[in-house]
Amino acid sequence: MASATPSFALERSAQPVAVAERAKLLADPGFGRVFTDHMAVVRYSDAKGWHDAKITARKPISLDPAAAVLHYAQEIFEGLKAYRLADGTLAMFRPDANARRFNASAERLAMPKLPEETFLESIRQLVRVDRDWFPTVEGGSLYIRPFMFASEAFLGVKPSSEYLYLVIISPVGGYFKSGAPAVSLWISQHYTRAAPGGTGAAKCGGNYASSLVAQAEASKHGCDQVVFLDAAEHRWVEELGGMNVFFVFKDGSLQTPPLGGTILPGITRNSLMTLARDEGLTVREEPYSIDQWRADAASGKLTEAFACGTAAVVTPIGTVKSPDGEFKIGAGGPGQTTSRIKQKLVDIQRGAAPDPHGWVSRID
Ligand SMILES: *Cc1c(COP(=O)(O)O)cnc(C)c1O
Repeated sequence: MASATPSFALERSAQPVAVAERAKLLADPGFGRVFTDHMAVVRYSDAKGWHDAKITARKPISLDPAAAVLHYAQEIFEGLKAYRLADGTLAMFRPDANARRFNASAERLAMPKLPEETFLESIRQLVRVDRDWFPTVEGGSLYIRPFMFASEAFLGVKPSSEYLYLVIISPVGGYFKSGAPAVSLWISQHYTRAAPGGTGAAKCGGNYASSLVAQAEASKHGCDQVVFLDAAEHRWVEELGGMNVFFVFKDGSLQTPPLGGTILPGITRNSLMTLARDEGLTVREEPYSIDQWRADAASGKLTEAFACGTAAVVTPIGTVKSPDGEFKIGAGGPGQTTSRIKQKLVDIQRGAAPDPHGWVSRID
């Protein structure tokens, strides 16, 4: 059964990527297309609990064609980054929050909970083994992807009795090639992301699967990202396909839609709220309607808006489009408040500023 201090067996890859080839990849890794030599794996069965924890060579996994995940999408994931601090140490940002959210997602998807210490240890061990994969490109980090899926071969609809938990790492550059340009958003008037009682607050692959057609619609209309409205009234701004959203007002206050089941509780969202409040800014977690957004942008009451998440950290929103027309936010580029609190967060993540909230978790 699960033990409090998991020990991961280490099976080093017999065929790691050659040093010269790795150096080439790390100079320009892009996002999510380069992977390190190893992965973490832990198995679960109802009979044995969590067992067989190991760090092993990254390779394809073989699945029975009847594996439940392939049919009923019982799958969850997390996303966090390891940064290199000024003294060269690698450090994760708030990994305990990811561990807790992983288990909240597991609960919603009727999956077994993974002991938080197993989650944290799997990442620490894997990062240590693959530490030479830290990107050399400016602004680079290790994007860490823990995930769990139903592996039982059975076509009946029920929670699987077997699961695989894995962690892979992708060395990444900046999400956007030249800093963060302002993105354009398409308001989906037809599709919604999450409904009350649904899986909107869980980080599950299914939420992304159902957002893709809306994202494709956004692209068709020349927009970078889709922004979803609530399912009941099609009126309240919720979030992007994979990022939370903030509004910044002329009076200096900030607002973000409240959690409550249909919005993913972002760790970046939570961190930015804390940093803004540390500065003495007012942050409201209150619903904001699309009509109000349009009106406030036109009157100048709203001066900035941004999206946030681990992958891109903070992305200014420049333009919002829908079949009813389009409107610009402020000057259509990154605003002052957005840039300032983004910098505050990035400085803490990279160890360039003090860490008053104990968010930085060093991997020695
Ligand atoms: C992961 C995710 C976010 C951002 O969460 P962070 O913890 O800040 O990375 C926001 N929305 C959705 C739908 C997500 O899946």
